[in-house]
Amino acid sequence: MPRVAFLGLGAIGTPMARHLAHPDLDLVVWNRTASRAAAFAAETGARVAATPAEAARGREVVITCLPVSRDVEGLLEGPDGLLATLPAGAVLVDCTSGDAATSRRIAERLASRGIAFLDAPVSGGVAGAEKGALTVMVGGDADTLERVRPVLARFGTRIVHCGGVGTGDALKAVNNALLGLALWGTAEGLAALEKAGVRADVALEVINASSGRSNASMNLFPERVLTRAFPRTFRLALLDKDVAIAADLCREVGVPAPLLELTAGLLREAHAALGEEADHVEAVRVVEQRAGQVIGGHAPQASAPRGAA
Ligand code: NDP
Repeated sequence: MPRVAFLGLGAIGTPMARHLAHPDLDLVVWNRTASRAAAFAAETGARVAATPAEAARGREVVITCLPVSRDVEGLLEGPDGLLATLPAGAVLVDCTSGDAATSRRIAERLASRGIAFLDAPVSGGVAGAEKGALTVMVGGDADTLERVRPVLARFGTRIVHCGGVGTGDALKAVNNALLGLALWGTAEGLAALEKAGVRADVALEVINASSGRSNASMNLFPERVLTRAFPRTFRLALLDKDVAIAADLCREVGVPAPLLELTAGLLREAHAALGEEADHVEAVRVVEQRAGQVIGGHAPQASAPRGAA
């Protein structure tokens, strides 16, 4: 097995890296906030590097999982950067939900040093990462993917080659745009139904047995909205970023996408209103505020609204 470094011990990076903390991979970790890396090392026995350069020294595979592609690009250069030590023949696997243009730029920079690059964003959330059951969507050279597949298989059960560099990023962005769309639309519909006298739990029972269902209606609303739990697993700031990438993609390839543009705008507003630390499901709070109705707070109205008659 290759020797592996993992950089970026955030909400999803940490459970992913846990699956790599086995002696055969000789895992080294680096995190911008060193205390998180120290806590991870104390828990797993992994080694902590003080800089990206130290993490990359002698590694065959380096995995990054940061908020945006530019953060990854920012780790490459300088005396502490990955390129100071990452050997030719190594592979940088970027599990950030990134953007294709920056990924292509990173790939070119690495190629000039004989280092391969794969964009490999993941889906399945923190729960999927904890179970080692993520989907990994990979852009880049197919043979390079086969070289690192045994490593990715430690945290991914579905590892899909999507095409050239940037195609994993593109697919991930569209997937999350659909999440944003379903989350927002379901919130609007449930707020309206509750105002019209249909309890949200009753509405969800029907929707989840019908054609309007989605991951949002089946899991997020029952587990996080009706319970008012709103655990922080995936920041709204990151969903905002993903939907903006999807809208950019549509513009770049010339596909008119008024619905995705609208979703991107709504999530941008929600992100601005709720701040950097809010979870993505909390976007529902903005819909509730506009509607004057808490979803699951039950109907303020005893009966359905009367029509003109
Ligand atoms: P978090 O915000 O929880 O963690 C971000 C990590 O990146 C932290 O380790 C942080 O370090 C580090 N970081 C932030 N900025 C920089 C920088 N400029 N340079 C170096 N390190 C930096 O994010 P997540 O773990 O939730 O997400 C990571 C990626 O995975 C994102 O692209 C996200 O969209 C994607 N993703 C997340 C999912 C989830 O459910 N959370 C699901 C699927 C994909 P520090 O500790 O110092 O803050």
